[in-house]
Amino acid sequence: MARIGIIRCEKNETRCPLTGCINCLNTTVQGFERYDEAQLVGVFTCRCPGDHVVEMGKILKSKGAEAIHVCTCTFAHKEDGQWVSGRGFCDHVDDLLARIAQEADIACVKGSAHLPQGYRPESFG
Ligand code: SF4
Repeated sequence: MARIGIIRCEKNETRCPLTGCINCLNTTVQGFERYDEAQLVGVFTCRCPGDHVVEMGKILKSKGAEAIHVCTCTFAHKEDGQWVSGRGFCDHVDDLLARIAQEADIACVKGSAHLPQGYRPESFG
């Protein structure tokens, strides 16, 4: 059983209750396909410009998370009903993931639900 933390972007916090992310985690599909089974440890909301994101990673790890996923909406957007890479909510999600992975020493994965076609979840750390 993989224990997973999720970090989402504040720009989506009043519009999406993470339904797709949580469903995909529970059924280990899309961004969570690499796990046989997964359990959600907790969720944090990152606030721009992300000054506290490493601390969030450390706290999720202290709560038992073995990996952290950031939501697909941070790096992709919906166009004509399809999710496509680019124009997500966060312009520096790669930097944030690299910092969490290095400074909190935990595996980080870019992606959760409804991955853009052909996108394979990128791992950091
Ligand atoms: S990736 Fe999708 S389901 Fe998850 S928070 Fe973003 S919009 Fe909501």
